[in-house]
Amino acid sequence: MTTDHHHGTPPAPVERRAVALEELLVEQGLISHEDIDAVQQEYETQLGPMHGARVVARAWVDPSYRERLLANGTRAVHELGIEGPEIEHLVVVANSPEVHHVVVCTLCSCYPWGVLGLPPNWYKDPPYRARVVREPRVLLAEMGCPLEESVEIQVWDSSADCRYLVLPERPAGTDGLSEEALAGLVTRDSMVGVEVL
Ligand code: FE
Repeated sequence: MTTDHHHGTPPAPVERRAVALEELLVEQGLISHEDIDAVQQEYETQLGPMHGARVVARAWVDPSYRERLLANGTRAVHELGIEGPEIEHLVVVANSPEVHHVVVCTLCSCYPWGVLGLPPNWYKDPPYRARVVREPRVLLAEMGCPLEESVEIQVWDSSADCRYLVLPERPAGTDGLSEEALAGLVTRDSMVGVEVL
C-alpha cells in the first residue's frame, strides 16, 4: 500500500491505521510490502462483477447450466473457471415474475467476492442491513427498484458459511444477443437484487 495517492492531502484516520498496521506486520516479519501490493492488485484488477455477469449470461442461454447453477452454485461457477474467494458455499437464487430475491448480510458485510468483487459501501451500511429486512419494498423503491405489489420479495441473509447471488431475469428484447453481449447487460446491483434489468 502506498500513502501518496492523494497527492498532499493528509491521509484519513483509517488510512493512517492501515499504514501503521502494515508497518507493524512487516516489522514483525509476518508479511512483506510486496505481498500486500500483490493482494491489493488482485482485488483491484482480478475480482469484480464481470465474473458474476458471465455466470448469469451463461444461465440465460443454457438451460442445463442454469439447472446446475441453481442446484450447486459453487460447482457451477467453478465450471466457468471462476475460482475467487468467498464463494466456497455459493447459493444462487433466481428471480421470476412472481418472486424477487435480494441479498444482505445483517450481521456484517458477507458477500460473494469471487463473483461480485468487493461489496459497495451501501451494502455494508447499517441502514441497508436493517431496512432491507424490515421494509424491503420501500427500500428497494428508494434505491430505484420499485416492484409491483404482486411480486413477493425474498430476503437472503448471508453469513460466513453461505453467500448468495441473485440470478436476474433476462431482459425482454435480447433474443438476438450473444452470450458476451448479454453479460455486458448484467450489473452488480442486479446480482445483489437491488436492481431489475
Ligand atoms: Fe457478514
